[in-house]
Amino acid sequence: MDTVERRELRHPDGRRLYVYGTDHGGALPHTSQDGQWPALHLRHDALRDRWVAISPARNTRPQTAPSDGRDAPACPLCVGGPELPFPYDAAVFENRFPSLLPDPPRPPDLEAATAPSLGRCEVVMYTSKHTGSLATLTAEELARVVAIWADRSEDLWSDERIAAVLAFENRGEAVGATLSHPHGQIYAFGHLPPLLEERVRAAQRHRRHEGDCLGCRVVDADAASAARAVVSNPSFTVAVPFAPDWPFEVHIRAKRHGARRLPDLTWEERRHLADALRDVVRTYDRCYDEPMAYLMACQQAPRDGDGPVDDWHLSFEFFPPNRAPDKTKVRATVETATGLFINDTDPEVSASQLREVAARTRPVDASLPPAARIHRIVGPVVDAEITPT
Ligand SMILES: [Zn+2]
Ligand SMILES: [Zn+2]
Repeated sequence: MDTVERRELRHPDGRRLYVYGTDHGGALPHTSQDGQWPALHLRHDALRDRWVAISPARNTRPQTAPSDGRDAPACPLCVGGPELPFPYDAAVFENRFPSLLPDPPRPPDLEAATAPSLGRCEVVMYTSKHTGSLATLTAEELARVVAIWADRSEDLWSDERIAAVLAFENRGEAVGATLSHPHGQIYAFGHLPPLLEERVRAAQRHRRHEGDCLGCRVVDADAASAARAVVSNPSFTVAVPFAPDWPFEVHIRAKRHGARRLPDLTWEERRHLADALRDVVRTYDRCYDEPMAYLMACQQAPRDGDGPVDDWHLSFEFFPPNRAPDKTKVRATVETATGLFINDTDPEVSASQLREVAARTRPVDASLPPAARIHRIVGPVVDAEITPT
């Protein structure tokens, strides 16, 4: 078991910064914006009975993914960048361009319902190295990332106003990732987003009508399907789902009933999760000549609301848009207008392709990554030392 120390700092503009791993020391420059986001708010769309987050400031965020063959501008996530000028192992900071804030401004009075954009937006830096992926991090680095996700989730859940926590990653230009440095994000929501609400309702309906857990049913079906399995894992199913929206979609789902959120996982399950993530991303990396773009979402049970959300199994779900190196599925009119996804691939054929790549590329000596325990350094939050720039 590795122990990873966590140190908590504060940027001059008030944003929290958590540095995980060895304390290399160093000061933060005062380059941040003023931390004021007066335009942020939620608007209610009456026709769909759902909230839309209005976040115009995000339009000013940087784009460093090279898209036309020219050199990308300097990476803001590398050591020496504005977020972390000093050496670090891994870190989490509050997003400079948030859509949701812990102390959101009062929403404007408009012609229809508005609400404060309550929540949090964090960036998770997996490593200070500029290149790499969940497949190429060392076993210790990967264990640390899993531990950081659980650590941050625990903190975010402790705020009673938070309804849902989503850890995620956008990788590759095909999905609009603006930075190529290995990193993910965490959003904590002050309200239950519509697709999560849909899942809660489906699980509750299933419990009412069938009398058992929908998550357990899905796990059993995925475990029983040799045609959809990608790799085997003692604690998680790793499979192309029965009804995927996207080509090469893969879900990693906790087998144990009760493993609803990251902090619920045992140490052994965390090791198996790290192994499963590595297997899936390695497989994606080897399918084509270049790493496959994907969206990755860690689906954790939302806060128990109208009833307990007991029938939820923690999952990591990958949505790659490519069905071939040069063929990208876009969310087009039918998908956007109706929610009916049209998948141009056969899920069992996709699974057999992925299974074949996974079997061919898995190193024979691949050992299980360790588990890591976070040790929070107790003490007041340290205000970052400000150096002139
Ligand atoms: Zn970088
Ligand atoms: Zn269950």
